[in-house]
Amino acid sequence: MYPRSFHYHRAGSLKEAVSILGQLGEGAKFLAGGQSLIPLLKLRFASPEHLVDLNFIPGTSFIKEESGALHFGAMTRHAEIEHSALARKIPVLHDCAAGIADVQVRNRGTIGGSLAEADPSGDWANALITLDATVRCLGPDGTRAIPLRDFIKDAYTTAKIPPRGSGGAYLAFKRSAPVYPSASAAVQLTMAGDVCEDAAIALGCVGLTAIRATEAETALRGKNLNDKTISTAAEAARAASDPQPDMRGSAEYKRQLVVALVKRATQIAARRAHGERVEGAHLYA
Ligand SMILES: Cc1cc2nc3c(=O)[nH]c(=O)nc-3n(C[C@H](O)[C@H](O)[C@H](O)COP(=O)(O)OP(=O)(O)OC[C@H]3O[C@@H](n4cnc5c(N)ncnc54)[C@H](O)[C@@H]3O)c2cc1C
Repeated sequence: MYPRSFHYHRAGSLKEAVSILGQLGEGAKFLAGGQSLIPLLKLRFASPEHLVDLNFIPGTSFIKEESGALHFGAMTRHAEIEHSALARKIPVLHDCAAGIADVQVRNRGTIGGSLAEADPSGDWANALITLDATVRCLGPDGTRAIPLRDFIKDAYTTAKIPPRGSGGAYLAFKRSAPVYPSASAAVQLTMAGDVCEDAAIALGCVGLTAIRATEAETALRGKNLNDKTISTAAEAARAASDPQPDMRGSAEYKRQLVVALVKRATQIAARRAHGERVEGAHLYA
């Protein structure tokens, strides 16, 4: 079958590609190697109105070693990685690239396209997760580095700019301005009316690393946001924290801070998700 007709745009730079996509909106898609997208177009499982071709952007296909890390341009073909002496130093990369489909697919398909497609059967995400890879993304507001684990959200779904109806807040409790916080909480919500569709909650300074309070997130997801559900989430966040006593306070004092910060940050995040402009300043002793 032939694809439905579409408008073709050739981007000359990454910035231009981002800008064209921003102007054209949901009806537009990037075209990289076309090894996932073109079959979908031909089957008419996807029918974008516009394709923005990335293949003519200089400097997007490279493999380089810098500061002890390997960097791949998004448009680097599977075959280039297969034959790269640098990539061969990390056998999992060579094994992965060399095993993807056949020569034709490897000569066209790109590492960036494979990760962006987030096909659950795709090889790259699986191999790169073992190396704790990070994906650098360019958007209208600049670049973001997203750990691959967080970049792939679900089958065929990658991390995005927070959707409409999202709001977040980050609050810390500090003894004074020039010192590190005693505890902090970051809350990001997506709301549909009073219902919390999605929640991400992270706690700082109350463990040896930042803590993702997944039970607290579960306590909010799919629920009506009210004092009761927010309190349940805050208590789950307290249980997820593992603070050490130090000059900033006892462990129990920090757990109490977690409860207060998560409650307050959740309330602010919800109001922001509803479009209110709310100041959310850090709290000081
Ligand atoms: C016959 C066949 C067999 C295959 N077998 C395997 C296999 O064994 N293992 C495997 O892993 N894969 C396999 N593939 C898929 C192949 O690896 C693809 O190359 C890859 O999935 C997508 O890369 P692409 O460059 O072709 O992307 P495209 O098909 O051009 O794009 C895929 C998607 O990603 C988006 N996209 C592309 N690049 C970017 C970017 N830089 N930024 C943001 N979005 C972007 C596009 O808009 C599109 O939605 C096979 C494909 C075919 C046709």
